[in-house]
Amino acid sequence: MNMSDTGALLNKVGASSLPEPGDIERLLAVQGEDGIREIFVFADKVRKDFCGDGIILRGIIEFSSFCTRECFYCGLNKGNVVLKRYRMKKPELFEAVRFLAESNVKTVVLQSGDDANLDPSWMRDVISGIKSNFDIAVTLSIGERNAGDYRLWRQAGADRFLLKMETTDEALYSSMHPRMDFKRRLRCLYTLKDLGYQVGSGNIVGLPGQTLSSIARDIVFFRKMELDMIGIGPFIPHKDSRFADQSPGDPVLTLKTIALTRIANKLAHIPATTALGSLDKDYRLDGLKCGANVLMPNFTPSCYRRLYEIYPHKRCIDEPVGGCGICMDDAARSLGRFIDYSRGDSLKKKGVVTNV
Ligand code: SF4
Repeated sequence: MNMSDTGALLNKVGASSLPEPGDIERLLAVQGEDGIREIFVFADKVRKDFCGDGIILRGIIEFSSFCTRECFYCGLNKGNVVLKRYRMKKPELFEAVRFLAESNVKTVVLQSGDDANLDPSWMRDVISGIKSNFDIAVTLSIGERNAGDYRLWRQAGADRFLLKMETTDEALYSSMHPRMDFKRRLRCLYTLKDLGYQVGSGNIVGLPGQTLSSIARDIVFFRKMELDMIGIGPFIPHKDSRFADQSPGDPVLTLKTIALTRIANKLAHIPATTALGSLDKDYRLDGLKCGANVLMPNFTPSCYRRLYEIYPHKRCIDEPVGGCGICMDDAARSLGRFIDYSRGDSLKKKGVVTNV
């Protein structure tokens, strides 16, 4: 595709309320520096027009590494018996949240594996304790549960929920998620929406067997779901997973996926994920330059951080807790942008037209 074809296709996708997967696939296939730069510049302008120059912070606390699932791409899979598992106690979790709130971060993302032994009442008490003591939003990223648990936690004050599909290609999904059900996961997303959560999902780029067509359909799925948050990260093989010997995802393809996701999902919050920062180099700045508007500093206590190894060589593993603040400020300044210390709620809640 030459430059004018790329430009025409970008305009078409950008103007469409529901882009054609084929158009997105053609843009994902663009090679050559000039063409790729054109996609990134277009996405960056959409980000600026719809989200502004603020970079929103979401502080992550990885409070439990127990997981009952066997996802082929993940180091927390239950077959990984080498990994020492932990579940934080309430007081240490509250202490981590206190530190996060004092660092002026207005969202805590409570993340864990799909921990079947997680007591719903324990989780409810954690959420209500946070909401009554700190003026911050609570995002849960704790996997598939029944509607009753989701409702309980919403009623306790949880604001948002992240449940990544990882791929929306049902055959591909089934091939790497033994004993998991694609349709059940989808139903969870709809339930979360019905319960009034701000809902996030996302995908992994570079999964073995994934095609450009499959990624393009992921992006259209994100649009159809009108997601509030979309997390996109590269596949990074973990030595104690079924995909140990597979090649990592291509950073440029991951960045193109972020860019096209931004163009098709103008009001979604899109993080420059930690995974993006954990490849051969840190690509998070590149992510922020092609559509991303969120950074996710890690507030997991140092003693647990290394144990939460979804993928290896995770960025910022040795940073002091909260040490990310300076780094994030520097990153924002280097881009001529700024850290937005607000809660960063869904842009759709501000009464902005949603069908853009
Ligand atoms: S991706 Fe999530 S559900 Fe799957 S093994 Fe890892 S932590 Fe568990």
